[in-house]
Amino acid sequence: MTSPARISPSDDKPREECGVFGVFGHPDAAAHVALGLHALQHRGQEAAGIVSYDGRQFHSHRCLGLVGDSFSAGPVIHRLDGRSAIGHVRYSTAGETVLRNVQPLFAELAFGGLAIAHNGNLTNARELRRRLVERGCLFQSTSDSEVIVHLMAISEARTVIERLTDALDRVVGAYSLVGLTGEAMIGVRDAYGVRPLVLGRLGEATVLASETCALDIIGARFERDVAPGEIVVIDAAGLHAHRPFQLARQRFCIFEYVYFARPDSAVEGKPVYALRKRIGAELAREAPAEADMVVPVPDSGVPAAIGYAAEAALPFELGIVRNHYVGRTFIEPSEPIRHLGVKLKHNASRGVLAGRRVVLVDDSIVRGTTSTKIVQMVRDAGAREVHMRIASPPTAHSCFYGVDTPARDELFAARFDVPAMARHIGVDSLAFLSIDGLYRAVGEAGRIAALPQYCDACFTGDYPIALVDHDGGSDGRQLSLLAESA
Ligand code: SF4
Repeated sequence: MTSPARISPSDDKPREECGVFGVFGHPDAAAHVALGLHALQHRGQEAAGIVSYDGRQFHSHRCLGLVGDSFSAGPVIHRLDGRSAIGHVRYSTAGETVLRNVQPLFAELAFGGLAIAHNGNLTNARELRRRLVERGCLFQSTSDSEVIVHLMAISEARTVIERLTDALDRVVGAYSLVGLTGEAMIGVRDAYGVRPLVLGRLGEATVLASETCALDIIGARFERDVAPGEIVVIDAAGLHAHRPFQLARQRFCIFEYVYFARPDSAVEGKPVYALRKRIGAELAREAPAEADMVVPVPDSGVPAAIGYAAEAALPFELGIVRNHYVGRTFIEPSEPIRHLGVKLKHNASRGVLAGRRVVLVDDSIVRGTTSTKIVQMVRDAGAREVHMRIASPPTAHSCFYGVDTPARDELFAARFDVPAMARHIGVDSLAFLSIDGLYRAVGEAGRIAALPQYCDACFTGDYPIALVDHDGGSDGRQLSLLAESA
């Protein structure tokens, strides 16, 4: 018997793998972390966890599924006692959605308990893990983040921060980390600052979060971004900032602006919603179309479509309606109705689209499967012409810095040029935003080829951080630690 097919309405999008959140110095720390994780749910919907510290011992609850399903119950939160807590939401690669991989990871080290929550991906984790296993380290999970815990465990440095610095000196990759010990909460960003991490304040308490929308939900005030390469330590004496790493030129993930971050967040000081509208306006200037209306693929295409419509002086219409009550995945064992998957989430409105020339705006195309179905849906609803406009350059390379993208040979833009893509998805015309257009939209004059201002590797193939486990190459395979240990 074959396994039930997993239909994911979001399978044609890159998936952010994690969000982190922490509170230090609040009597309801865990409850606030649960709320913060709820606001970060878009960054990871497969599992969630919280670890708290009550002054004597650590408490942990980790589960598969959504934050609200596991952390809304009073007894769970009451068990997570203490004035400090950190939490994590995650996606995982296929086959690894198991409880032992759910973060925060926790270990008792020589200095006491340590919990760690990681957003990002280490690109030399396989190599490090092999060496650590040879030294006798016993791994509990298949998560790359556990490498950091073992490196801290075997470090001969004196203090926790020195051990952490020692460990992070050995890892290569992208990371925004939140850690918790008996004395302190710790926040770290890698030297390139690929993934976001912000500091906030809630009364006397200090908050760390992947995005500002998670500060808003608990009424915390945004203080500042944790700087690339910075370690912040929050303890009873206050906040201490360390800069132990060699400085690197910042390469923040530009895809956060295009798709990952919530539109109500400000990332690196820039409001995401406004930037997405600028991206849409830039797209309208670069790729105009003779049409009657602009229709977004909801929800992620909405801000760019608003920007496109305003710039093109075309009506903005909700010609596709999204069903918000569908879960992220839908288990359907029956092959004959599997192809209906995309209709679980979207439906085209005949009353809006019939007989009209439509500019259809989406943020990105990954495999092309969903776009094909949505275009067919729009045509079935009577649209006379469909001109698809994508608010990012073609995604032709995989991400190795914390985003779950398919292998390169599954990426639509790696397989076909734009005219071939247009034929495949069945549109009258197709255009993507240029890489310089994207840089202009986020406030730059353009991309500086010799020294790019952002990580844009999934568009350009220019990987700023070495892909050690891939022998310096980029074959597009996301490596599994589980496979290595098998
Ligand atoms: Fe972001 Fe793409 Fe770079 Fe990954 S490769 S960090 S998704 S810009």
